Amino acid sequence: MENAGLPFPAGEQVLTLMANAIEPIQKEEKQMEKSPLEINEPQMIKPTISEFSGKDTDAHLENVIASFLDTITHRRYRCLGYPVNQDFNYDALVQLLRFFLNNMGDPFIGSSFSLNSHPFELCVLDWFAKLWDIKNNEYWGYVTNCGTEGNLHGILVGRELLPDGIIYTSRDSHYSVLKAARLFRIKCVVVGTLISGEIDYNELKASILENKDKPAIINLTLGTTIKGGIDDVDLVLQILEECGFSEDRFYIHCDAALFGLMLPFINGAPKITFKKPIGSVTVSCHKFLGCPIPCSIIITRLKYVDLLSKEVEYISSRDTTISGSRGGHASIFLWYALNKKGFNGLQKEVEECNKKAIYLRNCLRGQGIGSMLNKFSNIVVFERPLDDAFSLKWSLSNEGNLSHVIVMQHISVKMLDSFVSEFAKNRSIWYKDSSSKKPPCIGEEIGAKNCACLVHKKLISF
Ligand SMILES: *Cc1c(COP(=O)(O)O)cnc(C)c1O
Repeated sequence: MENAGLPFPAGEQVLTLMANAIEPIQKEEKQMEKSPLEINEPQMIKPTISEFSGKDTDAHLENVIASFLDTITHRRYRCLGYPVNQDFNYDALVQLLRFFLNNMGDPFIGSSFSLNSHPFELCVLDWFAKLWDIKNNEYWGYVTNCGTEGNLHGILVGRELLPDGIIYTSRDSHYSVLKAARLFRIKCVVVGTLISGEIDYNELKASILENKDKPAIINLTLGTTIKGGIDDVDLVLQILEECGFSEDRFYIHCDAALFGLMLPFINGAPKITFKKPIGSVTVSCHKFLGCPIPCSIIITRLKYVDLLSKEVEYISSRDTTISGSRGGHASIFLWYALNKKGFNGLQKEVEECNKKAIYLRNCLRGQGIGSMLNKFSNIVVFERPLDDAFSLKWSLSNEGNLSHVIVMQHISVKMLDSFVSEFAKNRSIWYKDSSSKKPPCIGEEIGAKNCACLVHKKLISF
């Protein structure tokens, strides 16, 4: 695996993230009379729409919004299970909400609708192109309405290039990949995964060989949703070569929804680069970067896009995007965030999140709760809590026997401490009667050495 050189000249070397020592954590919430973590969720006023407006309307609307704000503020303190950064401030851009901005059409061509933010969009795309080593005159891309749309677009490009291709994707890949296969009616082979969540390379090779007469459209996930496994692009390229696939017979789409903005800032992490024969990369920008509106970046090679495009007279542009109207605000938020954080800011945020993830894993193990944390990852995987109400309270996302916390920027050590102690306390109640229910064994899912069930407990190292 090639080591990540830093994409831009960085002032200082990244600290080794995997150091065992956990320093006391920065950036705690301000001292309040009562910690928001100790307060129960406020009752929310149910929103309704009345048929007649009256003199009390404005006051009522204000109350409903104030109540909703209380609720979501409360929930943000317990938002642990999803890869969304809730720590951002776009107050400086609030005036933009007075405008409808629409970036419909191809950002490189523009459109006849003049209230667009295409210049910001292009600037953001250039930044990502540079990050992923593709020249300005060789790439094409756009800011989509969500990560799913990025995956749909990348896979569609692959299908247009290789119309009788088969999609290969792993069991742990995002559900949008299977959606793409269904929508575009492409035969899809789902490949098993390793314990880390990575695609099972041997199984992938066997499947490709089984369908040797058909081109391969391969979706690789750089940071799987549940475990944060990173499919190894180099290994897959090697497999393709071993199977006798020349570059014109495969297309690789890289789904880097969360890690696309993390791996480039970690020394030694696998590098996302168009210097390798990959076709497209997506990253969700409401995830690590943080944005109040869902959006993602898709970057592909310019030479492929002509295949997809069609002139549309009505908007004076080229029809290259999946969605028609595209909100123009997102691109400005992204431009703003990238400028405010800069390379060093992002690097620091990645480092802090990954450090806190190690802290969380250690705290869970300290309570006798088995857990797994992949290298370069901020996703801590552990057993699914017995009580769904507990999961809901902490916005955990569960799958089978597994649950996880994704340590994002808004998550403080206090939040993690509070979560772990509540989890441990509840667990001792759920499994009090040791003759009946027992904590699930998740050795098969996260590896025996990470599991703390009664059988595997002896193997775990605390
Ligand atoms: C979040 C995610 C996506 C995109 O999801 P959206 O909700 O459509 O933005 C794609 N792939 C992976 C691996 C993800 O985790």
